[in-house]
Amino acid sequence: MVNFMLTITAKLVNLTNLQPQGGIDDPNFSYYFKMKCNHCGEISKKATCVNLDEIILFPTRRSFTNLVQTCKLCERVGSVKLIPGYGRPLSIECGQYEIYKPLMVFDCKGLEPVDFIFGNGWRADSTDGTKFYWIDLTRGEYSDYDKDGQFPIKVLNLRAKFDVVNIDILGRIRFVVECEG
Ligand SMILES: [Zn+2]
Repeated sequence: MVNFMLTITAKLVNLTNLQPQGGIDDPNFSYYFKMKCNHCGEISKKATCVNLDEIILFPTRRSFTNLVQTCKLCERVGSVKLIPGYGRPLSIECGQYEIYKPLMVFDCKGLEPVDFIFGNGWRADSTDGTKFYWIDLTRGEYSDYDKDGQFPIKVLNLRAKFDVVNIDILGRIRFVVECEG
């Protein structure tokens, strides 16, 4: 079992508090990414979709998970469970300094999440307080106009990464630094 924390950043123009439509830990928000098999290294061709609301019971292990996936190459079975409680909205300041903010933690068995894909169903507040819903980040950016504030709003330069983290018994997160190459 390895925990991966998904963190995101973006340049926000006249926008702040970018987060899933229903807020952080939105049960219906869909996370799309590819899966790398820990056994054979195969990366799934199609993106997988997981959300908090979809619960699968392991009959033998008497526990719950959010996704069970079989590797197409070696047929090993892996699973992904979402761990809520660690996400934070992305503020305009974080975007300005390219600081990555956590969105969700995934407890993965036999799989590694790679290539997060930004989809639909985001929300954010303009800097004069207007709430924007159904922000679609599928194209990698977003732009609209705030009629009250009379200024353009934009989400640009979206980036996401998965970091390996440890969660201690008190629920605190610690990043695990991995050697590359
Ligand atoms: Zn495999």
